[in-house]
Amino acid sequence: MSAKHIYLDNNSTTPTDPRVVDTMIPYFYEHPGNAASRTHPFGWKAEEAVDYARDQIANLIGADSKEIIFTSGATEADNLAIKGVYEMYSRKGNHIVTLQTEHKAVLDTCKKIEKSGGEVTYLSVGRNGLVDLDELRAAIKDSTILVSIMWANNETGVIQPMKEIGDICKEKGVLFMSDATQAVGKIPVNPKEVGVHLMAFTGHKMYGPKGVGALFVNRKNPRVKVTAQMDGGGHERGMRSGTLNVPGIVGFGKAAELAQQEMAADTERLIKMRDRLESSLMANLEEVYINGTVDSRMPHVTNLSFKHVEGEGLMMTFNNIAVSSGSACTSASLEPSYVLMALGLGDDLAHSSIRFSLGRFNTDEDVDFAIDALTKGVTHMRDLSPIWEMYKEGVDLESVEWSAH
Ligand SMILES: *Cc1c(COP(=O)(O)O)cnc(C)c1O
Repeated sequence: MSAKHIYLDNNSTTPTDPRVVDTMIPYFYEHPGNAASRTHPFGWKAEEAVDYARDQIANLIGADSKEIIFTSGATEADNLAIKGVYEMYSRKGNHIVTLQTEHKAVLDTCKKIEKSGGEVTYLSVGRNGLVDLDELRAAIKDSTILVSIMWANNETGVIQPMKEIGDICKEKGVLFMSDATQAVGKIPVNPKEVGVHLMAFTGHKMYGPKGVGALFVNRKNPRVKVTAQMDGGGHERGMRSGTLNVPGIVGFGKAAELAQQEMAADTERLIKMRDRLESSLMANLEEVYINGTVDSRMPHVTNLSFKHVEGEGLMMTFNNIAVSSGSACTSASLEPSYVLMALGLGDDLAHSSIRFSLGRFNTDEDVDFAIDALTKGVTHMRDLSPIWEMYKEGVDLESVEWSAH
């Protein structure tokens, strides 16, 4: 019998829905056309399929299909939005406001912009993971052209107050961009309703294929433009050249349609499973903390810290459950997550965090299995830990002078 493997890392990527794969397959062979070929039926068929998918995706987010620019994923869409606005609106200013807890696709793009002469403000967040709206308002100045704030955080699932942020951007007359990769397809997301002008998202976080994503670019009031970052044949209304990934786009479209149809039912089921996972672990174990506010977060995510238990070590107590730990294992060093550090967690709690992200294909049995494995793993690690023993005996660990020789 093969070992059971349980996938609770859906924020990293989701499995592709089999119904999505089925719609893609004909576009690899039966319908091989290039959507830009205007002279024969193969091209027309491909173009028709892309148009259909564009409508499916636009429908999901309440946009016009002309406002959807296909890219290779959310990283490219983030780059196109931020660099594209920076170049297009350079005469208006050179300042961007973003958050310390953004995805690297946003943060590293902003760093590149700083190197090329731009100015970026990285706002901190509260312990709840939320932006402080007064700080945001105060950070916007005459030279500000863009505010980039993610819809939902990939590590904590915390959802930002999008409408309030949109209102501030409108009042100040600056563009509002959002990396909504973790939110689209999972919760209702409508950029126009909240005043988002540019929005990045991707297929593979919503049960679609990898390697295809989109940037929403608002076309009316205001008409937003971005400078292309990929030059060539002028595809995607000149904003993103390159032959379209027709099978990928078809799958992305189908994933959007399924998300729209099944969102309510998925959400209800996922909240129940997530809450049971969380409350069972908190009932079975002492000193378990939820990272980020529980009042505004995604239905399928919980990020928990198990005090004085090192996350990477804990993960080694079970090898058949896929989760993420707060310490990114970069080569030799174990750096705690910058997102959790930005929330103000100490080293101890940031190092002891585990992110559970459930998905459409998880079952109650998966949750049972995870509760059992985590309970045993944490108990085992604490049984072996002198630090935990001292902590339980009431030793003030802060005051201990650790001798190094
Ligand atoms: C996964 C992710 C990305 C990157 O998406 P790709 O399609 O893999 O490039 C960007 N932002 C957030 C918030 C993500 O979770």
